[in-house]
Amino acid sequence: MDAKKRLQNVLTNIRSAEKQAGRPENDVALLAVSKTWPADVVKTLAEAGQRDFGENYLQEALTKIDLLGNENLIWHFIGPIQSNKTQDIAHHFDWVHSVDRLKIIQRLSQQRPDALPPLNVCLQVNIDQEPQKSGVTPEALPALADAVIKLPKVALRGLMVIPKVTPDESEQRRTFARTYQLYQSLQSRFKSIDTLSMGMSADMTIAIAEGSNLVRVGTALFGERHTQQTP
Ligand SMILES: *Cc1c(COP(=O)(O)O)cnc(C)c1O
Repeated sequence: MDAKKRLQNVLTNIRSAEKQAGRPENDVALLAVSKTWPADVVKTLAEAGQRDFGENYLQEALTKIDLLGNENLIWHFIGPIQSNKTQDIAHHFDWVHSVDRLKIIQRLSQQRPDALPPLNVCLQVNIDQEPQKSGVTPEALPALADAVIKLPKVALRGLMVIPKVTPDESEQRRTFARTYQLYQSLQSRFKSIDTLSMGMSADMTIAIAEGSNLVRVGTALFGERHTQQTP
């Protein structure tokens, strides 16, 4: 199956998940996670109408952004961020989903060029409080949001979550539901909050049922990843 076919299938699945959940059509957007896949594959999906792409590895992403500069795409950084990467992210991306530390977000705001609109930010939440995982704890989230909302060159848009891997569907459901509650309470405090980045290839239907409005999908669109990173 080619990439365009897979895109149609994923979009069909999203529309039917919306319907099943009683949500309005087109309530849920698709972020195509193109990590490890070359620029020409991204271009194929862009030609089929896909606009938003997610990348985890900075150098790989910068190469693709450069090659596809004319395609008018929206680039989301969704991988781990160290301080030495903030400059390039602030200059070349439209969104960041994987931030949980004020220091990093302050740097992104400082380094965002004046000519560009504010960088859109989803705070990553460590919803299962897993010690090895990134993300702000639910307890620390309100204070972090209070600080981020004041920064001039970032726009706080919502939350991102990567839940604990479990085969237990009801546990997945509860975890997504708890994230949705955090999202709603943030939304009641700040007008700019409109994005809940939740769900991947394997669990997007459940995530949509529990309130996600942006699913990050790699494997179901591009196939299995064979390498961790392109050379
Ligand atoms: C790789 C990745 C995805 C996509 O996962 P698939 O299972 O391939 O759909 C989504 N979100 C993040 C943060 C990722 O790193």
